[in-house]
Amino acid sequence: MKILAIELRRLELELVAPLVTATGEHRRRPIVLVHVETEEGGGNGECDALLEPGYTAEHADGAETVLAERLIPLLLAGAGEVGTAAEALARLALVPGNPMAKAALEMALLDAGLRAEGRSLASMLGATRPAIPAGATVGIGDTPAVVAAARAAAAVGYRRVKLKIAPGRDVAALGAVRRELSDVAIVADANGSYDLGHADDRAALRAIDALGLAALEQPLAAGDLAGSARLVSELVTPVVLDESIDSMAALEAALAAGACSGVAVKPARLGGVAAAVRVHDTCVAAGVHLSIGGMLEAGIARAASIAVGALRGFDLPGDLGSSDRYFRPDVTAPHVLVAGELPVPTGPGLGVVPDPAVVEAATARCRVFRAS
Ligand code: MG
Repeated sequence: MKILAIELRRLELELVAPLVTATGEHRRRPIVLVHVETEEGGGNGECDALLEPGYTAEHADGAETVLAERLIPLLLAGAGEVGTAAEALARLALVPGNPMAKAALEMALLDAGLRAEGRSLASMLGATRPAIPAGATVGIGDTPAVVAAARAAAAVGYRRVKLKIAPGRDVAALGAVRRELSDVAIVADANGSYDLGHADDRAALRAIDALGLAALEQPLAAGDLAGSARLVSELVTPVVLDESIDSMAALEAALAAGACSGVAVKPARLGGVAAAVRVHDTCVAAGVHLSIGGMLEAGIARAASIAVGALRGFDLPGDLGSSDRYFRPDVTAPHVLVAGELPVPTGPGLGVVPDPAVVEAATARCRVFRAS
């Protein structure tokens, strides 16, 4: 594939409702879009780095800078001839880290290549499910507010609800939602906020385990694989790792330590779709459960994650919900809930395109880099 130009565009969006997690509150949602123009046509990618470091080290300003100053110039060197998306990604390995920035470029190149072939991403991945079960995420809050938000999600069809928790803001809300929504699968996500060195945290985790949840996600700090392994052996609830699994090496270490019953797969955190598929395949071979994770993504990256989430190994409740839970309007035609599920896009490439009017209205700045 030969790239002619890459457009780098920074959008400033607001979430429909703020989301409070153990690591902070998300309200503003910057999105970095990349559009690659190739000899065969164009493709779009979305970088999901959040406003601030916290969930991981990456953040939107940093990702935008790394894209502009390092990653895009690397792809445009050599007159823009990059080979396949995988070969382009391999070239970017000269820059360490920055998986979300790299994932945006991989996404755009995949979109361009698949559009030229007239083939969908799900078809390329061998993902045959026509739709994936949707998930609604509810942030940390007072118990009545959490129950009301979970009830509202269930009322519009969500059968899977994830509650964000933190020490001291956990058992009461989880228990109330569990009692209220007895037929909904409930996941608790602690974003690494518990510490087995604290007696109160150990007691809370035992109490959470008694609630019959579908999964407990990232209870301990990302690096605490020994502690996580202890929880896997002591708890009945499946322990899912999210922040801990930022590479294949991290996955292999977690599997060797027996530190997870499941893995939350987020293509952005792992460095793209191909990396997410490798994690999926390794987990399937190891008999480890999988959930498809969400990153408060807009419509372009949401389309890519829905396609990945349609792979056969995903058997735990996932994070991905309809566009209108996050953005009104979304930057693409919205992903819409149908009987509690999200249809997998079937059009060429990602199956979605940015809406020019929405994108223009949200654009803070835009630069174009050309192959020389
Ligand atoms: Mg998580």
